[in-house]
Amino acid sequence: MKNSVLIAFSIMFLGLAQGASAALNVFACEPEWGALVQELGGDKVSIYTATTAMQDPHRIQARPSLIARARSADLLVCTGSELEIGWLPILLRQSGNDAIQPGKAGYFEAANYVQMLEKPTRLDRAEGDVHPGGNPHIQTDPRNILLVANALLPRLTQIDHNNAAYYEARHKAFADRWKSALQRWEKEAVPLKGLPIIVQHKGFPYMENWLGLKEVAALEPKPGVEPTSSHLAEVLSQVQSQKVAVIIRAAYNDGRASDWLAERAKIHALALPFTVGGSEKATDLFGLYEDTIQRLLSAIK
Ligand SMILES: [Zn+2]
Repeated sequence: MKNSVLIAFSIMFLGLAQGASAALNVFACEPEWGALVQELGGDKVSIYTATTAMQDPHRIQARPSLIARARSADLLVCTGSELEIGWLPILLRQSGNDAIQPGKAGYFEAANYVQMLEKPTRLDRAEGDVHPGGNPHIQTDPRNILLVANALLPRLTQIDHNNAAYYEARHKAFADRWKSALQRWEKEAVPLKGLPIIVQHKGFPYMENWLGLKEVAALEPKPGVEPTSSHLAEVLSQVQSQKVAVIIRAAYNDGRASDWLAERAKIHALALPFTVGGSEKATDLFGLYEDTIQRLLSAIK
């Protein structure tokens, strides 16, 4: 009796252990990369996403729970271009996981596979959060998502060769759906072309480039520095002399500065999801861009 219980228990435990090791453990720094790996990896991957859309990815604590997840990861997928400079190096060091260190197959930086914008000609930390590799917020242009997906596929098949055909099939299905969604979004967004916008943080150059929006000011006096009342007053006088249609911010940004300005300048303030999970409709990558465009369009109606 005792033995049979023990055997049953052992079988159960083995089953669990097998189930856990069957999937590729992926550590995603931001929700958009977790969502993308899910699209390509299906049920062959187990994803842990380190941050939510309500967190500023520049400012994350390297908590013990994150270190533990990094320790058991087979693949780490992050933005790079120093977006995670304040926490990822600590996490990597403390994880003691050789497979996900920079230069290894298990270390993937999305920013390496897209055309970077806003590369500084001169690097001065007094200018705020300026990144030498260029602006890290690449996910605001959905064309970049496809470029990153194309680079992720060979990485997945390299690390988990047994499931290569599965990843290839899922990548193809995703790329086909993505290309037709892109066409649809670009058609819907035609009325946004040339729209003057004010951003809270310089988080949208890729979206501006994609949709032809015109950034005329930022509420942060320098990237990563909270809006000050003197700077806001300056932006307000600038707005009053120009025709600015909308102020945009990311879901995680405090809305007070943009609401203050919107009220005085009598213009719209919009919170955009910025990543997966940043709004009710942004439940996956498709919802992210659909909702972003609908919100922008609502401001010019
Ligand atoms: Zn930033």
